[in-house]
Amino acid sequence: MEILVRDFVKENTDKLDAAGISDASVDIWLLLEHFADIKKSDYLANPHMELSKVTAEQIEEAVEKRINHIPVQHIIGQTEFMGLTFKVNDKVLVPRFDTEILVDEVVKYVGDEFFKVLDMCTGSGCIAITVSDMCDNATVVASDISKDAIEVAKENNQINCTDVTFIESDLFESVEGTFDVIVSNPPYIKTEDIKDLQDEVKLHDPHLALDGGESGLDFYRSIIKDAKEHLKNSGKIFFEIGFDQAEEVSNILKENGYHDIVVKKDLSGLDRVVIARN
Ligand code: GLN
Repeated sequence: MEILVRDFVKENTDKLDAAGISDASVDIWLLLEHFADIKKSDYLANPHMELSKVTAEQIEEAVEKRINHIPVQHIIGQTEFMGLTFKVNDKVLVPRFDTEILVDEVVKYVGDEFFKVLDMCTGSGCIAITVSDMCDNATVVASDISKDAIEVAKENNQINCTDVTFIESDLFESVEGTFDVIVSNPPYIKTEDIKDLQDEVKLHDPHLALDGGESGLDFYRSIIKDAKEHLKNSGKIFFEIGFDQAEEVSNILKENGYHDIVVKKDLSGLDRVVIARN
């Protein structure tokens, strides 16, 4: 028996809506694309499109998982970032759209220079890999404390045919040499605030990737201090920040002798990136 895609989408979007899942219809289309290879554009071109019962049941199982607040990216095992595909699991932070602002700034600066770029706390590898993909002459190194994350990042490096070198390292501990650019989206949530995050984040993103200590600023302090030794003269450092951290992170940069400090906003008008020069 076949089922109309139109009815299936309506019924399952309503189910997710009723369970309080935001962006329900986006998730349903992601599931349809993943399990049935049906895109919304295919359906719009052919509104009478049908779905087999077996596939519908498979997607319904996925919808049950989504109702239990498992992130859709974990259900399908991947996500898109800067137009590339990244494998994700519960060992790495799911790449966020906001982080594309950070990558845009780095790519604009690196251009086609023969720069050495370090991505600190790389997680899935999304920043390092997209910079390597977009900046042909850059040499990109990425580090993370988590062996499991490095494994995922290495797979993503292969999937996207990029050439990033990965190092398992507690911040700069095992990092050698100097760089023209250091970029990082470190954990920056205050420990106290983690309990208030959505279940999708607090139960499924790794705690290690979220927790920025009591002030949320632990990693900025540490990276800013030790980056001095690993940034070339006039090299630049790029951070993603929480919407309310621009002033504090800028001050830490100033205290450590960085200059030309610039704050960039995201598409919602919130402070999202801080850039400074050594
Ligand atoms: N650099 C990765 C990202 O931006 C991981 C960040 C993290 O784990 N805090 O998604």
